[in-house]
Amino acid sequence: MTFPLAPGSVIGILGGGQLGRMAALAAYPLGYRVHVYTPKADDPATQVTDRATVAAYDDGDALAAFARSVDVVTYEFENVPARTAEILGESVPLRPSHHVLAICQDRLKEKDFLRDHGIPITEYAEVTSETGLANALHPKSVGKPAVLKTVRGGYDGKGQVMIGSDGDPKAAWAEMAGGADQPVGILEAFVDYALEASVVVARGAAGEIDSYVPVENRHADHVLARTIAPAELSRTTAQRAREVAHAVAHAIDLVGVMGVELFVTHDGEVLVNELAPRPHNSGHWTIDACPASQFEQFVRAVAGLPLATFERHSDAVMDNLLGDDAARWLDFARDPDARLHLYGKADARPGRKMGHVTRLKPRRG
Ligand code: AMP
Repeated sequence: MTFPLAPGSVIGILGGGQLGRMAALAAYPLGYRVHVYTPKADDPATQVTDRATVAAYDDGDALAAFARSVDVVTYEFENVPARTAEILGESVPLRPSHHVLAICQDRLKEKDFLRDHGIPITEYAEVTSETGLANALHPKSVGKPAVLKTVRGGYDGKGQVMIGSDGDPKAAWAEMAGGADQPVGILEAFVDYALEASVVVARGAAGEIDSYVPVENRHADHVLARTIAPAELSRTTAQRAREVAHAVAHAIDLVGVMGVELFVTHDGEVLVNELAPRPHNSGHWTIDACPASQFEQFVRAVAGLPLATFERHSDAVMDNLLGDDAARWLDFARDPDARLHLYGKADARPGRKMGHVTRLKPRRG
């Protein structure tokens, strides 16, 4: 395969959610076709692409046929089994690599990776038993307050237990470990942050890199509710946030787009919380406020095209439509200031990301 991919080439996307859908919607104007691979029929991305395979991630025949039909493979969801990506990567270019996926789908590997590369993070320790948790809660280790998280499978606050100053390791361990046979957790020191921010960074195969302005993220019940672009940060802190995100993208040898979630402390220190090796919910505002969205940068990086501008023509506030919020779709559609994006999901379960609304503001600074 030679890069950049010529128009008419097929980008394969593992995962069929809204991120795949919006990536596909950015791929077609550049002349590409998109083939989505997802275990679930009628997923958001399959509704907008000309090709879709609905099969399990361990279906060898379906994976082989998928590999033959695409020119490059990427993923829109980090809980795609790393083995699936690895198998595909043996016959088709995989961007980002399966190493990136393997790191980002395991909180412990991710923290170890960040620590080993000198990226600022909170204190943490691996815990594999109730006794181990009690030890890690000792002031000489991580201490309290702390957050206990499952190592795998967690996102949007799932699999997390907050342990306050008088928290009980027994109850916390039972809550996290649940029915798992061999539970593994990570205990992180609680960060008393001033705000949560993120940087969406894109990097091409030759190492070219750029990012959008840092944004502020506000959560409700652990799920992103609102993104404010740009975040109100001093010039130095905003610069630092981008430097940290770029350092992560270089260190992990990213080819694609990554959301770097950050805590900004009261004294302006920037700590990395989590990495998402794909377009990020906090980058959706770029669809309406920038000449080139995070999804276009993603397609460009994966297809080997040069990255586009990361400038914005407007500031923006993006609100997620969670669960029943989406029932108000007609109100948003009638509001001339609201840019409405719906993801084509039929079932509005509480907290489920059904769509988002972006409101633009004149650009300041
Ligand atoms: P995560 O799934 O790791 O992104 O965590 C979800 C949310 O939990 C974050 O957005 C924070 O609001 C909160 N959180 C996670 N880890 C910590 C931490 N170490 N200190 C303080 N808050 C945290």
